[in-house]
Amino acid sequence: MADLISRDRACLWHPYTQMKTAPPPLAIARAEGVYLYTEDGRRILDGISSWWVNIHGHSHPILNQAIAEQACELEHVLFANCTHRPAVDLAEKLIALLPPGLTRVFYSDNGSTAVEVALKMAYQYWRNRGESKRRTFITLHHAYHGDTVGAMSASEDSSFTRPFEPLLFKVARAYAPYCYRCPLGLERESCEIDCLNDLERLLKEEGDNAAAVLIEPMLQGAGGMVIWPSEFLAGVRRLCNRYGTLMIADEVLTGFGRTGLMFACEHARVSPDIICLSKALTAGYMPMGATVASERIYEAFLSDDRTKTFFHGHSYTANPLGCAVALASLELFRTHGVLDRIRRLERQLKDGLEPLREHPHVGNVRVIGGVGILELVSDKATREAGGYLDRIGPELGAKFLERNLLLRPLGNVLYFMPPYVIKDEEVFRVLNEIRSVLEPWRWPV
Ligand code: PLP
Repeated sequence: MADLISRDRACLWHPYTQMKTAPPPLAIARAEGVYLYTEDGRRILDGISSWWVNIHGHSHPILNQAIAEQACELEHVLFANCTHRPAVDLAEKLIALLPPGLTRVFYSDNGSTAVEVALKMAYQYWRNRGESKRRTFITLHHAYHGDTVGAMSASEDSSFTRPFEPLLFKVARAYAPYCYRCPLGLERESCEIDCLNDLERLLKEEGDNAAAVLIEPMLQGAGGMVIWPSEFLAGVRRLCNRYGTLMIADEVLTGFGRTGLMFACEHARVSPDIICLSKALTAGYMPMGATVASERIYEAFLSDDRTKTFFHGHSYTANPLGCAVALASLELFRTHGVLDRIRRLERQLKDGLEPLREHPHVGNVRVIGGVGILELVSDKATREAGGYLDRIGPELGAKFLERNLLLRPLGNVLYFMPPYVIKDEEVFRVLNEIRSVLEPWRWPV
């Protein structure tokens, strides 16, 4: 084990943790269900679904079998001028499940590329239609859309994007409905989703320059786990229609049940023009992305004029192993009452976290579907908090890890997002651990 860590230290470069003082990485030997097993014999509950990808548990026998069987048939083939059954079957299944009107599936290989594809698709859509002026993307404050250059441009200005600022294209940013920190200083109980006016202002200002509005529906993830009122989502669709621009929903995090419905857009019964999927698409097994567009968008590319072609493709596009495991995952949703389980989890999270509102440093408690969130503040009156780089994140993470619970707070935002297969008693255990770590804990001075 010590040998593995020193070999890791000699050759690897991990995302986000390059501090000389960083603790050694956890050496994971295997995983099963909601548990990760370390090389030195610890059993750790995966409380964040391995970065939000795992939904049916690790090493699920049905998913293992699907991938093994597919590997024996066809492990991979290029997806230019070739097709295969898993890609077609999965596309048909997705189209049937997605909000109506999304009919053309474009595969790629992760969440960032699913977003890059959506941005490029929207941009070229207007160009192909002779409206090349439509080049501006409108995104929201607190957004996170990924780490590639286009996805970073669309994301909120943050420590993730700042070093690359000169490389990024400009976007217009509208208010997000972050009710705990309302940009207009209003209270949700009495407001009329007034923050939506900011998006309308930008749509008016941009006029014929607006290419698309890109949002993370209902739950903005890495930007602080911000849960929306569904009226805001409905309003985005309404405004995109009114001002004749496209709506892109980034459901990389929210897709496949995370918010309690199969897709977050269903909370407001809206269909975006383009939807981005990844993460739980393959239940945490294979890197895969899908960008699904409406027929109207697809038709703008359908031409013998090669300047209209969408020239985008990755070596592993539509990887058959990914498609096969995604199909098996969707079948589990159908046969195992997965959405019912998420709804029960939502109630358990609400009941377990709500009492923590009384804690002197819990500023806000938020729950949606299978995600429970505590926003910690140094002072409840001023709502002050350090943000993503605040040292309380790693400090609290280390305390949970001592209790064999993997939680990875986003700075002052502590969240619990387990695989859906977590058992009731395991949920209660985690909620107890959270309460017992937080009860004596005070904001460091
Ligand atoms: N979009 C959203 C909403 C995300 O939460 C993420 C990742 O957290 C991404 C895009 C990027 O996905 P990936 O890390 O697979 O590139």
